[in-house]
Amino acid sequence: MVRKRGFKKLKSLLGERFLDDKLSRVQYSYDATQKMYLPDVVVLPVNTDEISQIMKTAYKYSIPIVPKGWGSGFTGGALNVEGGIALSLEKMDEIIELDQDNMMVWVESGVVNYDLQEFLKPYGLMFPPDPSSWKFSTIGGNIAENAGGPRAVKYGVVKDWVKALEIVLPNGTTLTTGSKNIKDVAGYDIVDLIVGSEGTLAVVTKALLKLYPIPEHKETMEIVFEDMGVAAKTVSSIMKSRIIPTSIEFVDKDAIIAVEDAMHIGLPLSADAVLIIEVDGAVHETQENVKKIEDICRNTEGVISFRVAKDEKEADEIWTARRSISPTLKRIADGKLNEDIVVPITKLAEMIKETQKISKKYNLTIVSFGHAGDGNIHTNIMYNTDSEDETKRAYKAMDDVFDACLSLGGSITGEHGVGITKQDYLEKQVGYDAIELYRAIKKAFDDKNILNPKKMRL
Ligand SMILES: Cc1cc2nc3c(=O)[nH]c(=O)nc-3n(C[C@H](O)[C@H](O)[C@H](O)COP(=O)(O)OP(=O)(O)OC[C@H]3O[C@@H](n4cnc5c(N)ncnc54)[C@H](O)[C@@H]3O)c2cc1C
Repeated sequence: MVRKRGFKKLKSLLGERFLDDKLSRVQYSYDATQKMYLPDVVVLPVNTDEISQIMKTAYKYSIPIVPKGWGSGFTGGALNVEGGIALSLEKMDEIIELDQDNMMVWVESGVVNYDLQEFLKPYGLMFPPDPSSWKFSTIGGNIAENAGGPRAVKYGVVKDWVKALEIVLPNGTTLTTGSKNIKDVAGYDIVDLIVGSEGTLAVVTKALLKLYPIPEHKETMEIVFEDMGVAAKTVSSIMKSRIIPTSIEFVDKDAIIAVEDAMHIGLPLSADAVLIIEVDGAVHETQENVKKIEDICRNTEGVISFRVAKDEKEADEIWTARRSISPTLKRIADGKLNEDIVVPITKLAEMIKETQKISKKYNLTIVSFGHAGDGNIHTNIMYNTDSEDETKRAYKAMDDVFDACLSLGGSITGEHGVGITKQDYLEKQVGYDAIELYRAIKKAFDDKNILNPKKMRL
């Protein structure tokens, strides 16, 4: 009843951009986890003032409200687990101001990452974070999850590129925090607190992002291995030789088979692992680094082949294969527990060995691929959902994967966040005292616990 009064107010504020029909509610009820929670209503604001009004209404009537980008999140962060309002940022998609002199850009949070990259290209600039989902994820979602992409090895993750934010607090207050200054230590760093907070503390409405010149040149290499352990050790050898590649991605045997089966692009089915390495910079520096990496590979036993993409088209084909892994895994089994564990890069080989042991122990296919250059492994435990026994084994295997990862000094998530799917494991990693501190911070921002409740163990 109380909620209904709030909804009535929102309807009069937003008119046709207030949706409460069943179809719209279903459309905004899921994300990439494929879990489904129906919101009571969906709202599509077009500016910060409207978001502030919406938040004030949600606050007054104590209605749960969940910010939503494009719903590509892998941990259920954008799901309305307690119903309430789905707050879509999709209409807030304006690139507001490009400041070429300071190499920064102000954007609304609903801008899709790839659209921003395309906008920046003619100016010779890029926003370095490039999640594989860049064509269907928003800057707001990237900020909320502190996303990273293949280029993270050299350029870092989203938090390294956000200078200021405009946010709306759960009580409707609008705040701009951060600045264009390179150095700025006035007060607590609220920008850093909001980045990675998974939409639990404030709604991000605008962001000031730092940019970087598009490198003069880049080269893409594909290296095929007869053994995954050798591939992992090669990653360490490359880092030890003081080369910082833009990206080092790896793909294991089952992922190779799944992609080849779906796309027929000539991937070597006999291989145990493939590394995709990109280096960028000035032409001479890039070519020198390719030569160094080639020398390391030629001197490593277990390397089946080494090739450098001869042009951009060939490089694109290699990257398309990598970006296609996730959607092609459905060919193995219809169920997938997709984790994004991360370990120190020196522990990569050990973690992969542990995963292979767990796969044998539970008699399940576990596909591993991901960002080898920063130790971030996408571990996909595949199972048939119509088998109760297989489903149980998959969840046990996941427990073992997290335990192995934590015992190697790793983290349960490198980029996908905690959301709802990893909340049971968070305390194991960060400890009880940290969780209590998170709860105190949450309370300071959101005393009525209306913004994205029941996430991150809050
Ligand atoms: C095929 C595939 C590949 C992927 N590859 C990568 C990858 O390489 N790297 C990576 O990091 N992730 C990856 N992801 C995960 C996902 O794309 C990212 O987490 C992305 O940042 C989510 O953006 P979104 O706009 O879809 O957000 P949503 O899924 O809509 O929301 C994610 C979270 O952000 C919050 N949120 C969204 N917008 C706002 C806002 N304006 N203010 C406050 N909170 C907000 C939501 O409440 C939710 O908690 C991948 C996903 C898929 C499906």
